[in-house]
Amino acid sequence: MKRFLTVLFIVISLVPSVFAQGRTETVFTQEIFAMDTYMSVKCYGKEAEEAAMAAVREIQRLDSLLSTGKETSEVSRVNSSGSAVLTGDMKELMELSLMAYEKTSGAFDATIFPLMELWGFSSKEFRVPGKEEIEETLKKTGSDKLSYDSESGKLVLGESQRLDFGGIAKGYTSMKLKEVFSSFDIDGAIVSLGGNVQTYGAKPDGSPWRCGIQDPFSSSGQSVIAAIEADNLAVITSGSYERFFTGEDGKTYHHIIDPSTGYPAESDLVSVTIVSKNGAEADALSTACFVMGKEKAVKLWQDSGREYEMILITKDGTLHITGGLKDSFQTNSKFEIIY
Ligand code: AMP
Ligand code: MG
Repeated sequence: MKRFLTVLFIVISLVPSVFAQGRTETVFTQEIFAMDTYMSVKCYGKEAEEAAMAAVREIQRLDSLLSTGKETSEVSRVNSSGSAVLTGDMKELMELSLMAYEKTSGAFDATIFPLMELWGFSSKEFRVPGKEEIEETLKKTGSDKLSYDSESGKLVLGESQRLDFGGIAKGYTSMKLKEVFSSFDIDGAIVSLGGNVQTYGAKPDGSPWRCGIQDPFSSSGQSVIAAIEADNLAVITSGSYERFFTGEDGKTYHHIIDPSTGYPAESDLVSVTIVSKNGAEADALSTACFVMGKEKAVKLWQDSGREYEMILITKDGTLHITGGLKDSFQTNSKFEIIY
């Protein structure tokens, strides 16, 4: 659980304001708690208020569809029945997840839920399971054990399998928010979904949108290690510092599970940020690259035609930044550029 998440629900702030200098520009901000994290939506322009309100409704809609913690959610219904004909968002998410599973050789696996439960991440009753329990639970995970027909949307889960779109949901949401924004008369917007940022359109002063990358080594969880300029992009981060518990053995265990071992992923990375036009893909990749470690993450980036950018932070505190970001990022930390 993020250290600074102490309040349970909704802080809504309404901040309409007018900029001077002859141009009337409204800015409207909404903050909500959804998908187990704090989120904020800030819109600029004539219909800023309407757009921000619609964005919040979309976040809430997707939250109630995808939450594994709500019995009534679509995901929970599919999980308890074991089969379903998927349509709409569920179909899209299933297909994006299966694509990510293929692309990352199983490092991203939307059938991870039995392991999340075993480690107590879903109930927040954390515990370190025994080796045998992990072995048993691994029999239930693996997207290769489900059957899915993209023509009909028919999904049949393997025995005791359960889905968890938690590794892709925020990026998918940011992608959907772009669609919401496009139906309003706004100039620009910036959304933070628990630190995962999506920018849209232009900033009122014409300067590029700037996104901070959280310092994984900061104990407050609030300081920034780098900043990048990112127009019309999703900037999505996965890190071991985001959600973790300390076991009775004194070790920390975080929420990104290596599907090949059943344990929290152990790699040389503490944080992975993916910068992409495609939020859902960025989200799945951030989780997968964290599991894969630096070397495999770089290889995947090279093999997939460098179609996104990355900031990988290794345990020694070095930032490894892909070439496309070299003119748009700033940091005071040690960094190297990957080509
Ligand atoms: P993120 O913060 O995007 O890296 O997502 C972490 C969340 O994704 C966890 O809380 C789980 O719900 C889920 N998850 C954990 N490990 C994996 C994995 N290897 N593949 C897919 N989803 C995962
Ligand atoms: Mg992710």
